Amino acid sequence: MSIRIDSQKCSGCGRCRQVCPGNLLYQDETGKTEIRYPKDCWGCTSCIKECCFNAIKYYLGADIGGRGSFLYTRQEGNLLHWIIVGPDGNERVITIDKSQANAY
Ligand code: SF4
Ligand code: SF4
Repeated sequence: MSIRIDSQKCSGCGRCRQVCPGNLLYQDETGKTEIRYPKDCWGCTSCIKECCFNAIKYYLGADIGGRGSFLYTRQEGNLLHWIIVGPDGNERVITIDKSQANAY
């Protein structure tokens, strides 16, 4: 399991770099974010939740039957949409209201 960052979408805002507990994300010479040692990413998803540009995707590994599945988030005010894309391209969406975080 690991993330992949789409450099075309990355704005270089740095929000993801501030929250990675493993300090795995860094700014490259073009100002974009990249990941060092992708295998060291343990999939905490903190960076994905911070990215407002849909630039980070989290790939589910073959070891858990991912078969190319990935997830990413989309922010909409207080709503955080988790979008899961299956190997067949079908999407499922789980929406969390961040203002009700204590209710979960
Ligand atoms: S939060 Fe998203 S847009 Fe901002 S630096 Fe990270 S990957 Fe790029
Ligand atoms: S998923 Fe977690 S450990 Fe992996 S790069 Fe993002 S913030 Fe770091």
